[in-house]
Amino acid sequence: MNNEELWQAALGELELSLSRANFTTWFKNTFIAECGDSSIVIGVPNTFTKVWLEKKYHTAILKTLNNIAGNRVSEIIYKVEMRKDPSINSFFLKKELEGEPLPEKTYHDTPSEISGGLNKRYIFETFVVGKGNELAFAAFQAAAKDPGKVYNPLFLYGGVGLGKTHLLQAFGREVLEKNPKMRVLYVTTEQFTNDYIQAVRNGQAKEFKDNYRNVDVLLIDDIQFISGKEGTQEEFFHTFNALHQANKQIAITSDRPPKSISALENRLQSRFVWGMAVDVSQPDIETRMAILEKKCREKNYELTGDIIQFVAASIQNNIRELEGALNKIIAHHQFNNIKPDLAVVKSILSSFSQKQTQAPLTSKRFLAVVSDFFAISIADLTGKRRHKTLVVPRQITMYLMRSMGGFSFPGIGTELGGRDHTTAMHACDKIERELTTNETLKQNVELLKQKLYQTN
Ligand code: ADP
Ligand code: MG
Repeated sequence: MNNEELWQAALGELELSLSRANFTTWFKNTFIAECGDSSIVIGVPNTFTKVWLEKKYHTAILKTLNNIAGNRVSEIIYKVEMRKDPSINSFFLKKELEGEPLPEKTYHDTPSEISGGLNKRYIFETFVVGKGNELAFAAFQAAAKDPGKVYNPLFLYGGVGLGKTHLLQAFGREVLEKNPKMRVLYVTTEQFTNDYIQAVRNGQAKEFKDNYRNVDVLLIDDIQFISGKEGTQEEFFHTFNALHQANKQIAITSDRPPKSISALENRLQSRFVWGMAVDVSQPDIETRMAILEKKCREKNYELTGDIIQFVAASIQNNIRELEGALNKIIAHHQFNNIKPDLAVVKSILSSFSQKQTQAPLTSKRFLAVVSDFFAISIADLTGKRRHKTLVVPRQITMYLMRSMGGFSFPGIGTELGGRDHTTAMHACDKIERELTTNETLKQNVELLKQKLYQTN
C-alpha cells in the first residue's frame, strides 16, 4: 500500500464518522507527506486545519491509521504543506462531482443594509486573537471570504463577555465590505422573537417572512433565548431552512453548546451542528494583557506595564469586565486629574476583585444558577424525580458545591432536598470521573463556573 492508498483508505473510514461538512472542511487537501516506520507526517493546507486536526481529530486519525496499517503508527505530525500535484487528490474531486449542483446564486440589487445597531468598534481589526478564541476567529474569517459556502451554519458559543457579539458583528461587516450588495441582517434572538410576535398579532406574517428570508447573511445573537418559545422556534426553523437551502449564510451565537440548550426542538438542535460549531473560552493572561493594551491604544490612553499586568491578573473571566476596569481607571484619572499609579489602581479595582473573590457562593446561588442554566425549577432540581434531565443537573450541582463552595457531603445532601451524604459523595465522584471523557459535560461545567463567578 503506498501513501496515497493508505490515506484514501483512512479517509474512507473517517468519513463515516463525520458529517459531510466537517469531513470536507477538515480533510480536504490533506495527504500523507511522509511515512516512516512508526511516524507519519500529514500535510495540511493551513494552520487552522493543523490546529483543528490536532485538537479534535487526532485520536480518530491515529486509530484509523493503525487499523489500516496494522498498529505500527505511534506518532502523527501535522505539517502545513501544499501537495505538489493537486490533481492526484482524486478523492475530493470525485466527491465534488458526485455532489448535488449548487442552486444558482441570486443577487439582490437592493442597497446594502445592516440593522440592529451594529457597533462600529466590533470589527476584526479590534479583536485580539489569543488562546481561547483563535479557532472561532479563524472560522469567522474563513466564512467571511465565502459566505454561505464554507461553514453553514456557523455556530459560536461560550460564556458571557468573551467576544461572541463582537465576532458576529465583525463578520457581518467584513462580508458587507467585500460584497457591498449583499444583504446582511443582524438581530438578537429577542428582536427576532418580538418581530415574530408583532407580525402574528398584526397579520403581517408575509412581511416577516420577506424580511428574514430575503437576506444573504443572517446573524442571530444569543439563540439560547429561543429556549421554550415554541412558536418562535417553528418560525425560525422555516427561516433557517429557506436560507440554508438557498446557500445563504447563517451565523448563530449562544452562551452554551447546541446540545445544552434545553427546551430546544431536536430538529433545530441537529441543524445547528450541520456546519461548524466553535467556542470561545476564557482568555489566558497574555491575551488579557494584549486586549488591555489594544483597548488603551484605541482610547488613546497609556498604562504602565505593571498596571496592565495587575489588571489582567485580577480580572480573569470576562473581557467586558476587563474593559470596565480600564474605563474606571480612565474615569478616575479624568475626575481627579492625576494619573493613577499602581497603588491607586489597586484601590480603584478593589471593589472588582473583592466581588470576584468574595462573592458568597451560597447554596441558594448554586441552585439558582444551575436551575436557570438547565431551565428546570429549583423544586425539580432538589426533588425526588429521577429523570435523566434532572439527575445530571442535580449531580453537577453537588459537584460544584463541593469543588467551588467547599460544602461538606452531609451539607450538600441537606441542601439538595435532604439526601444522604453518600449520594453526594457518589455524585461528586461520578462527575469528576466523567469530566475527563465527556466533552459536553466539561463545557457545561465550565460555563456554570463562569456564571457562578459572575458578579452581577
Ligand atoms: P459576548 O457577546 O460574548 O457576551 P461581547 O462580544 O459583547 O461578548 O464582548 C464584550 C466586550 O469585550 C466587548 O466590548 C468586546 O469588544 C470586548 N471583547 C471581547 N473579546 C475581545 C477580544 N478578543 N479582543 C478585543 N475585545 C474583545
Ligand atoms: Mg453577546
